[in-house]
Amino acid sequence: MEFKNVTVIGSGVLGSQIAFQIAYSGFQVVVNDINDEVLEKAKERIKTLTQSYKQDLKASDAELELALNRMTYTSDLGDAVKEADIVIEAVPEVREIKINLYQRVNELAPKHTVIATNTSTFLPSDFADETGRPEQFIALHFANHIWVNNTAEIQGSAKTSPEVFDSVVAFAKEIGMVALPLHKEYPGYILNALLVPFLKAGENLMVKGIADPETVDKTWMIATKAPRGPFAILDIVGLNTAYNIALSEDTDDARATAAYLKEHYIDKGKLGVQTGEGFYKY
Ligand code: NAD
Repeated sequence: MEFKNVTVIGSGVLGSQIAFQIAYSGFQVVVNDINDEVLEKAKERIKTLTQSYKQDLKASDAELELALNRMTYTSDLGDAVKEADIVIEAVPEVREIKINLYQRVNELAPKHTVIATNTSTFLPSDFADETGRPEQFIALHFANHIWVNNTAEIQGSAKTSPEVFDSVVAFAKEIGMVALPLHKEYPGYILNALLVPFLKAGENLMVKGIADPETVDKTWMIATKAPRGPFAILDIVGLNTAYNIALSEDTDDARATAAYLKEHYIDKGKLGVQTGEGFYKY
């Protein structure tokens, strides 16, 4: 199974990065979103992205031009998927939006088309049957700033065919990713299964008054030689996201963390790197 024609659905933060990275790797890419206005914004975002490729990857103008020329844009879903070997879905993390989209893709795409989701929090089995093609449904999860943070975590449901799984692993490598296959589906894949509890442990040390953020980070960095501790990572993730994660959990620790973050940081506009201050100043 070989993927030549790729369609990326959803051209927001991650979708535009995924689409450009795949075009940069030599594939034809069709980009789809809900209307032409949104697609115009995506084109602008992708133009800005080329600057990062220049800076971080030393990409030449000729290479970037070629990549841009491999991309086409359409708000017509039927047009977008009619020749797709693989569709990569990067629409909002909302169950109903994703299910509705899979059902329409199943109707409109050729029989052989594989559907891959970039979901961060759902499992492939949450949607497999709804897609109408469970053997050809898989999660292919990229990280923000895909061109430098080039991980591709791959997990299938129990119904994903081994051939599809192996082909997606091979494809991930072809588009410049380090392919990270999971043997079974698991909430948070590998990275967030490790990172989320780690960040929570750091937050608990702060909220319970055990140690301040700088001391927690210093401990972790000196003892493990890691470049950052949990609070420097939280500043990058954004304190809003940390707050939303805490709010979504029904435990005393999570409630205390949410209240603490709100009072000491969020209400003061300290959201992390994005606002110039979080646990640290930037
Ligand atoms: P986003 O809000 O920036 O972009 C979503 C895009 O999907 C928007 O352009 C929106 O117009 C479009 N869209 C909505 N409904 C659509 C439809 N029916 N058809 C076509 N397009 C539609 O979101 P994002 O941050 O890029 O996240 C997208 C997915 O990627 C989510 O599943 C998220 O969990 C995952 N993800 C995000 C990140 C991140 O750091 N932002 C990292 C990894 C994975």
